[in-house]
Amino acid sequence: MPQELLLSLVFEPIPASTLAQLANLRELYAKRAPKVSFEFFPPKSDDAEKKLWEVIATLAPLKPRFVSVTYGAGGTTRERTHATVVRIRKETPLTPAAHLTCVQATKEEIREIAETYWAEGIRHIVALRGDVPQGDTRSIGNGYRYANELVAGLKEVADFDISVAAYPETHPEAISAESDLDALKAKLDAGANRAITQFFFDVEVYLRFLDRARVAGITTEIVPGILPVTNVAQLRKFAAMCGTNVPEWLSHLLDGLDEKPELRTLIAAMIAAEQCRMLMLSGIDHFHFYTLNRAELTQAICHILGIREAVSSPTSAIA
Ligand SMILES: Cc1cc2nc3c(=O)[nH]c(=O)nc-3n(C[C@H](O)[C@H](O)[C@H](O)COP(=O)(O)OP(=O)(O)OC[C@H]3O[C@@H](n4cnc5c(N)ncnc54)[C@H](O)[C@@H]3O)c2cc1C
Repeated sequence: MPQELLLSLVFEPIPASTLAQLANLRELYAKRAPKVSFEFFPPKSDDAEKKLWEVIATLAPLKPRFVSVTYGAGGTTRERTHATVVRIRKETPLTPAAHLTCVQATKEEIREIAETYWAEGIRHIVALRGDVPQGDTRSIGNGYRYANELVAGLKEVADFDISVAAYPETHPEAISAESDLDALKAKLDAGANRAITQFFFDVEVYLRFLDRARVAGITTEIVPGILPVTNVAQLRKFAAMCGTNVPEWLSHLLDGLDEKPELRTLIAAMIAAEQCRMLMLSGIDHFHFYTLNRAELTQAICHILGIREAVSSPTSAIA
């Protein structure tokens, strides 16, 4: 019996769709590693500050496009955000981005903060409205009501590089998905350079959102925000506030690992890396990581995606 015939009897032929997927994967690995940016929050104590600087030192060699530092809405972290961003600018080669919220601030306060940042060489602002505290009627007569107004105000101060927030699953306060998209367009039309999304887990949800944004005439980059997850119970609470869906498969993957932190971390890295790789197959090449001031997970995910301290070809690893 000819050998080909024998083989075809023993082995099922590989379906064409599987071969196509493998070809896609090979192509994916052959591509340049994606770009990344990292988000930190300002430390509350000396210990936390020390830890953050260790995290920054660990992640800096991955050469992120920028690193951003969050801001407590209402200005609760004003000094700490400022100090962290300025220190990053002075002591590292990284490009820092300062988050800034306009809720409960006057236009004068915002102008003053923005002018100080510009004078200190901070060129990138993540411009946000912030969450309105319960009971607040937004009675400030001289404040910005929405982030698009803040963007316009910042642009009057100087030509900042501005990022704004986008919501693939719609902002919880929006009256409709369409109006939320209009709000995003207004921020970009006001001069923002890119949007960064709220974290999400369903790749399809993000890709549909991207389609809707393109149809609405938004051509600007919409960078997916990636949250590596280890604690599902905590995540559920947080996700509920943000309007992010936590899929069953995610809970299932992390189920039963409460007492096994190392295993949980491995699985969490795998989940986020898989999410990024699916997005890369759709042409996405920049990911914004919510690091929660921890280096290990983000570092592991970046490594899987081919991001190295000294950039090497990811192809050689699998050829
Ligand atoms: C990447 C990212 C980073 C973040 N960083 C921080 C941070 O550092 N600190 C912090 O406190 N929060 C942060 N947030 C959370 C954010 O502040 C909240 O989600 C906040 O509730 C909305 O901010 P925004 O800038 O998206 O607001 P906006 O774009 O102003 O939108 C707020 C709501 O108002 C609606 N809206 C907008 N314009 C209008 C209009 N003209 N008329 C009627 N409705 C309108 C929108 O649809 C939306 O529902 C961040 C979120 C993301 C995605």
